[in-house]
Amino acid sequence: MKHDIRHSVAAALIASLFAAAQAPTADAAPIPTTTPISRADASFDAFKQSLVEAMLAQNPDWALQVGQYQHAPRLAIPDATADIAFAQKWLGQLARHPVGQLSESNRVDRALIDNHLRGLQWYRSQFRNHEWDPSEWNVGEGFSLLLTRDYAPLDARLMAISARLAQVPAYYAAAQRSLRRPTLEHTRLAIGQSNGVLALLGEPIESALGQSSLPDEHKATIRARASAARQAVHAWIAQLEASLPQLENGGARSFRIGPALYARKFAYDIQTDLTPTQLYRAALAEKDRLHAKMDTLAAQLWPKYFPEQPLPAERLDRIRHLIEKLSDQHVAAADFVSEVKRQIPQLEAWVRDKDLLTLDADKPLRVRETPLHKRGVAGASIDAPGPFDPAATTWYNVDPLDEKPAAEQESTLREYNHWMLQILNIHEAVPGHYTQLVYANRSPSVIKSLLGNGAMIEGWAVYAERMMLESGWGGGAPEMELIYAKWALRVACNTILDYGVHNLGMSEAQAMQLLRDEAFQQEAEANEKWQRAQLSQVQLSSYYSGFASIYRLREDLRTRDGERFSLKAFHERFLGYGSAPVKYIRQMMLR
Ligand code: ZN
Ligand code: ZN
Repeated sequence: MKHDIRHSVAAALIASLFAAAQAPTADAAPIPTTTPISRADASFDAFKQSLVEAMLAQNPDWALQVGQYQHAPRLAIPDATADIAFAQKWLGQLARHPVGQLSESNRVDRALIDNHLRGLQWYRSQFRNHEWDPSEWNVGEGFSLLLTRDYAPLDARLMAISARLAQVPAYYAAAQRSLRRPTLEHTRLAIGQSNGVLALLGEPIESALGQSSLPDEHKATIRARASAARQAVHAWIAQLEASLPQLENGGARSFRIGPALYARKFAYDIQTDLTPTQLYRAALAEKDRLHAKMDTLAAQLWPKYFPEQPLPAERLDRIRHLIEKLSDQHVAAADFVSEVKRQIPQLEAWVRDKDLLTLDADKPLRVRETPLHKRGVAGASIDAPGPFDPAATTWYNVDPLDEKPAAEQESTLREYNHWMLQILNIHEAVPGHYTQLVYANRSPSVIKSLLGNGAMIEGWAVYAERMMLESGWGGGAPEMELIYAKWALRVACNTILDYGVHNLGMSEAQAMQLLRDEAFQQEAEANEKWQRAQLSQVQLSSYYSGFASIYRLREDLRTRDGERFSLKAFHERFLGYGSAPVKYIRQMMLR
């Protein structure tokens, strides 16, 4: 099971590629160089507001994600030409707001906007993943949000659903026209997820109609539109399935994007001062450091778990035997989701008792089984509502294990054993992603929330694990230390794998050697990670990149402030900047 996050910010990055034309004109006057700072900032604030309105108007799915609902009835059809024009136009406007006169916070916002718009141009003109990754074409999320998020009465939401359904055939017709030599791996993913979309457009809509008090003719229209929408998804699936034999016989694009595209994607997505190669080398060194630490722990634990057996001669053998032994301790498959639910209040109590940071008691987190249309990418993920509707429910999605084959269940359960499951919950929920997103949604800068940085977000969740253990979670038991080190090894190996697959031609056998033999992953975990390394690019590197820079910042501040350093104050101030790249938060905190 992979851990990942599907929240407003990640969705924003995806949905931003769906920006369409006709942005409203918002002509900000050029700023004379003599303008006082406050006027420059006021003018820039007005520019930001116009830009946000334009982006959300052209990205109804993104708007839905972040809790703005007036565009809900529109289903935008991705259009590369329109997106490039959109980015060009707004970059022109941005140029009228020079960096020099802006406040520090606005300078960061300006950098985020610049990176976002240039990234949009690059994605659409160079990366062009909407042409070779058919899983980019998926209407599921918008319908899922309209069905589950009760921002308006059900009948009003059903009218938005009805309007959207009417546009689904045009959407998939555009998808069919856009596809050029896709990869086999993304085609298979798209087939699986599109079957989830089919399911979503069937029973859940029918059941919502059952609870609705709309007039019968409206209901009949919605049923007819849902039927036509399902036919369009069927046709899309049929086209993808028909292409499989050709893709399997050498007609597919490689899933490896290569060093040139990788370096650019890394720059736009990660926004760090390190080059990909520097980060890769740091991750290799981290792997060595962790192996040495794990060996010490293994030697310490050996007599307790293997009193009759001599210590194996090979270091990796010693560690593996102990991890295998500890992995016997896990919950039953049927109890997996309920065990996740049980742990969340315990983590919240710990964070409060240890005074690690303030938790907002008003923001509900609810655990659920992952909806069908988004299973198969991450075993656990967070769906958060975003800055415009911060009171909406945040969901912790967990892929249920009951339906999987017995061997796969056992493998996943051993991976998410007694200790590892606690670390997963720290990462996804408290004080990881969920807590961070609550803070991000309170950030005074909507730009920092909307254009949030994935490496900061993942880095925080990974940092939270380490910080919880440092605060005494797990009682300092060497078992917890060892399993945590295995998790940290996974974080470093994510970077090694991602870089290796896309830059060095790392084979499946080499990847498995890394994940199973050197990172001690269970079969199911290693297989899924290999899938993800083929389906994603750069994202797997965000964890280690973000973690390393956050940890370094904290230690630098601790050294600088000495006795005056407060861990709680550090956490709250760090999170208070919103999901900005750590290099900018660093500048502001070291000021
Ligand atoms: Zn995560
Ligand atoms: Zn077992």
